[in-house]
Amino acid sequence: MATKEIPYKIYLEEDEMPKAWYNLRADMKVKPAPLLNPQTHEPATLEMLSQVFCRELAEQELNVTDAYIEIPEEIRDFYKMFRPSPLVRAYCLEKKLGTPAKIYYKFEGNNTSGSHKLNSAIAQAYYAKKQGLKGVTTETGAGQWGTALSMACSYFDLDCKVYMVKVSYEQKPFRREVMRTYGAEVTPSPSETTEIGRKILAEHPGTGGSLGCAVSEATEAAITHEGYRYVLGSVLNQVLLHQTVIGLETQTALKKYGIKPDIIIGCAGGGSNLGGLISPFVGEQLRGEANYEFIAVEPASCPSLTRGIYAYDYCDTGRICPLAKMYTLGADYIPAPNHAGGLRYHGMNSTLSELHEQGILKAVSYKQTEVFEAAEQFARIEGILPAPESSHAIKAAIEEALRCKETGEEKTIVFGLTGTGYFDLAGYAKFNDGDLQNYVPTDAELAESFAKLPKMD
Ligand SMILES: *Cc1c(COP(=O)(O)O)cnc(C)c1O
Repeated sequence: MATKEIPYKIYLEEDEMPKAWYNLRADMKVKPAPLLNPQTHEPATLEMLSQVFCRELAEQELNVTDAYIEIPEEIRDFYKMFRPSPLVRAYCLEKKLGTPAKIYYKFEGNNTSGSHKLNSAIAQAYYAKKQGLKGVTTETGAGQWGTALSMACSYFDLDCKVYMVKVSYEQKPFRREVMRTYGAEVTPSPSETTEIGRKILAEHPGTGGSLGCAVSEATEAAITHEGYRYVLGSVLNQVLLHQTVIGLETQTALKKYGIKPDIIIGCAGGGSNLGGLISPFVGEQLRGEANYEFIAVEPASCPSLTRGIYAYDYCDTGRICPLAKMYTLGADYIPAPNHAGGLRYHGMNSTLSELHEQGILKAVSYKQTEVFEAAEQFARIEGILPAPESSHAIKAAIEEALRCKETGEEKTIVFGLTGTGYFDLAGYAKFNDGDLQNYVPTDAELAESFAKLPKMD
């Protein structure tokens, strides 16, 4: 094989890691619509947000003017344990596909939680600790967020209460044990520990629970325990901000080798990894320095950007978080079971929604069988067993590379590989057995959900 100028893995030095997060909203001429108080529909104030979120996180949520927000040293030190993450040139995949395209992926699965979620979990735990809180509460469905938050809380010696959807609690005992090993209290939801949980159990004995129900229990637990706040692992702009370490590192690594990407792709659940990856590049484009094609990839079973509507909606089923204007399927929409649990969110981050509205961010969706086919192809040639969520981005990258094969264009494609799939083997088993089902909502089902969106005047 000929010697290659670009290594398989581009690593950065510790001192090349970002010292500030990048706040894209500062560079947007048309900003995302403001968050609203869910009761009064007035723009959310710092006072109001601070009751739900840690104060500094609430400040970050409202900050649309500072392009850079310093990453506290304590957080940077923690990042050093698992960052910088490698930017990998997918030479083997390129060869296998026979494409002239150059494919790179930013791999975020190199930590025990197995995904990018730790980038924000550690920041949220830090601000909670700094504020003198005792602990935080959250819900987890698939388990990645709960795992990341448990790790972050144990590092800062904070109490962590995780409400885990009962079916996941039973089906994913290993994730549960990782969380418990890091000191989190994991409660199957619905539970007897909250009023709402007891009510649901009385009405539906034997229920396997739902994400909405777990959110309600987690928020009740936060409100009824002094010194606790409720934290979220995606969708909010503060989370997207923390995830910009992904994009900033990618930008530095590419610049180091003089590489200019043409297409940047990420899977999109609530939008935090995608937003974190593309923000610095969107910033370049908004400032007129470069042009890129940005693609969000979502499951056909939960198509908020591709089939949702742009409207104010609740971020959480518990309805205590502010209203956000976003592409949404409706807060009560319950997406069909899908093995990419981390992408089963009804709405999309407000900044990404506004970029989609402005035509800057494109969106595509794929069915889970085609996504698992891409995952298998990738695992067999690149070695990494990808998370089903991440595999949506793999699928889109392969599609773009095959298009280049037809046209002969030597485009440079960068995608985010958000995590590993070791806890998703039940999904892989179904795929291997040929039992994987696809579900695509009908227009009528979506219309029914849209009709329940909050009435704004
Ligand atoms: C949670 C998760 C996602 C989706 O969340 P975003 O906020 O949209 O980034 C994607 N991949 C993995 C591995 C996840 O755990």
